[in-house]
Amino acid sequence: MPQEHHLDTLVVGTGFSGIYALYHLLKDGLNVEAIEKESEVGGAWWVNQYPGALSDTWSHVYRYSFDKDLLQTYPAARTYSSQPEILAYLKHVVEKHDLRRYMHFNTKMVAAKWDDEAKKWTVQCQTGDVYRVKYLITALGPLVKPSLPDIRGLDTFKGQIVHTSTWDPSIRVEGKRVGVIGVGSSGVQTVTAIASKVKSLHVFIRTPQYSVPANNRPMTPEERQSINERYSQIWSGVMSSAFGMDFHEPTRTLMSVSPQEREEILEKIWQAGNGIQLMFGAFSDVVSDEAANEEVCRFIRKKIAGIVKDPQKRAVLTPREPWNRRPLSDAGYYEQFNRENVYAIDIKKYPITEATPDGLRTADGRLHELDIIINATGFDALDGAYAGIDIRGRNKGEGLRDRWKRAGPDCYFGCAVAGYPNLLMMVGPRTVFGNIPPVVEIQGTFLRKLIRRAEEISAQTGRQCEIEATEHAVQDWTEICNQTAQKIAIGKGNSWMMGRNVPGKVVTSLMFLGGLNAFRGKIEDAQAKGFVGFQSPLGPAEGTARL
Ligand code: NAP
Repeated sequence: MPQEHHLDTLVVGTGFSGIYALYHLLKDGLNVEAIEKESEVGGAWWVNQYPGALSDTWSHVYRYSFDKDLLQTYPAARTYSSQPEILAYLKHVVEKHDLRRYMHFNTKMVAAKWDDEAKKWTVQCQTGDVYRVKYLITALGPLVKPSLPDIRGLDTFKGQIVHTSTWDPSIRVEGKRVGVIGVGSSGVQTVTAIASKVKSLHVFIRTPQYSVPANNRPMTPEERQSINERYSQIWSGVMSSAFGMDFHEPTRTLMSVSPQEREEILEKIWQAGNGIQLMFGAFSDVVSDEAANEEVCRFIRKKIAGIVKDPQKRAVLTPREPWNRRPLSDAGYYEQFNRENVYAIDIKKYPITEATPDGLRTADGRLHELDIIINATGFDALDGAYAGIDIRGRNKGEGLRDRWKRAGPDCYFGCAVAGYPNLLMMVGPRTVFGNIPPVVEIQGTFLRKLIRRAEEISAQTGRQCEIEATEHAVQDWTEICNQTAQKIAIGKGNSWMMGRNVPGKVVTSLMFLGGLNAFRGKIEDAQAKGFVGFQSPLGPAEGTARL
């Protein structure tokens, strides 16, 4: 039976950020519950059950830092955690802290409306349940809405079609003829995991990518002990670094060292593993200097040439663009193309023209016969998660999704939008790009401080203090994000981070690409100056102070 619930706070989503918010807001004494559209906790790590799904940031920093006990005791069997391991970890956190009793599953939020008289949000769910709350915390996740290719005749295909992010665990690829469209993180992991199991694998590649071996290996007891002894030091390093992944980020530029030393440094990281580390941990200017970027591209191209034996496949797999995407890490991706049953299909040269009942046809007239089509085609990132929800703030004429569709997703520090009081986002649009658990902790800490301060002011004045970003702050932050993106390679590439992967989407920096440490500094600075960027009385009296 649908019910009406009255709470202080509703958290929407139970992935990494929703669990964080629920746990901490309960601890802060709020009357808070969470809703989740899926049947289980985990967010991205529940729905992305595709073969080979794995976090490509190290297992010892792909976890919350707030639970000191779990940091020391929770297993880390290998240097990276697979999807089932991360899901098990999140479930464990939920059980350990007895959070499940505050969660409602299969409960999808479809609309939310701000009532300016009552100073409350009314949240409607597809179950018919209604929540009336003071604070609405959306923890929907940054990569949620699949971006699907528009292929003529796809409905005639008689096999299975699936997107990596809505993977159906009952799918069996063994002995099948499988097509994978897309070679971002999801495609690379899928291809690597299934190549040895399928009858044939057709990989449809529009833009080949630079991928670096992850070097996923068992974590030795000695390594684990050393990590445990250094954990507090590791986390302070993580929080003061640009990416948040426990590696040293050098200040040396690529051209400042000799060609031989350059090669040695790159080789060392290639062997140690990880695309993120190669992009940010070798030299300071790989993302900001074109010549440095091209040198690293040249290094990776040489590696690809050394791995892929077939010249035709090698040509399709070798990127020519600058390295301007989210870095990829793999477990032997290029090696899979040395198998006779794995084909690299250049769909930039010969685009997919249609689907038939038997497979996909490309512009050269060839029909690639398939039993399963796997779309590893990415996401309508960040604001895509909000596209299916009708959110109305003070200005009832235009909903949030229309505002964002028209002008791009403006969102102060990835958490607040002008005109939408007490709507607080965890990892919303224009949050920082970095390792997600520390990003969640930075955003969550700020959110708690905002709520605490608003509650204090409300108690002092006897009038409810609202948390609302100013238009100035939202615009300033948009400008800062866009200017920062223009200084680095990713800002110029066709990455989902710029919205360039979805036809018709506003091209803008969907994330702050200036580093987690800089993001944290800006948030702390705004807070120290009296919550600059928020309407008075929470923010400064004039309400328009610039960042
Ligand atoms: P993605 O990086 O956006 O890659 C999508 C791929 O699909 C690209 O190769 C793209 O080609 C191709 N594609 C998209 N639309 C297409 C179309 N209509 N026709 C043909 N090809 C098309 O998406 P993703 O791999 O799902 O990764 C997204 C993000 O999720 C990652 O960057 C990462 O942040 C996160 N992720 C992380 C992990 C992890 O290891 N932690 C794993 C998976 C995902 P073009 O390049 O030509 O557009």
